[in-house]
Amino acid sequence: METLDTALEAPEAKVARLNAEMRGGSAQDIIRTALREFGPKLTYVSSFGAESAAMLGLIADVDPSLPVIFIDTGMHFQQTLQYRDALRDFLGLSDIRTVVPDAGEVKAVDPRYILHKSDPDACCEVRKVRPLEPALRGFDAWITGRKRFHGGGRLALPVFEFSEGRYKVNPLAGWGPEEVAVYFEARRLPVHPLVAEGYPSIGCWPCTVRPVDPSDVRSGRWVGRDKSECGLHLERKDRPRVF
Ligand code: SF4
Repeated sequence: METLDTALEAPEAKVARLNAEMRGGSAQDIIRTALREFGPKLTYVSSFGAESAAMLGLIADVDPSLPVIFIDTGMHFQQTLQYRDALRDFLGLSDIRTVVPDAGEVKAVDPRYILHKSDPDACCEVRKVRPLEPALRGFDAWITGRKRFHGGGRLALPVFEFSEGRYKVNPLAGWGPEEVAVYFEARRLPVHPLVAEGYPSIGCWPCTVRPVDPSDVRSGRWVGRDKSECGLHLERKDRPRVF
């Protein structure tokens, strides 16, 4: 429970305290601690991709009413939408909030749905990043499913961080593919249908293929582009301006 001292705590101090407290803590300990700190102002932003069920299973065991935000870009595989609904029913998640891009903004910058070919950063900005902003209003913190083994900018991922006015919580930062697989098996979690077809990382259909480097699970995302993240975790100053 938040006390007067912790309510007045500077973000950097809070992050340092929580990271020290959770050193060696389990993923569920981290989720419980985040709930203790942020209560109803905590949400999880999920892509309902290949590994998402692990976090959703952990959350369901702690609090199945925790709000879960899903950004429906309009470019997801149909299997992902079906998987979202299957996981909701399997885990008893009661507050999945599907948000969509602003139709007027999409019409203004990508009326032919081809922007992903010429400027994927701008496409992600209008279809993912901008819809998330209003969805996060009222939340002080969000859980992400990022893991250090994904590589790139995630290699040094802390468990708690503060960015753009909000806390981020990364309970699975230290998990590798083995931990994910063991948890899926132990919890008997449904597997995304495209995993069986060779997709270990799944985003929008125009920007997802099977890995081109078998040792890098995210190497099938935005192939041929100097892009490895959708932009949800970029600071505002580093994001493209579409308007
Ligand atoms: Fe557009 Fe591809 Fe980003 Fe989806 S992943 S929003 S299709 S650029």
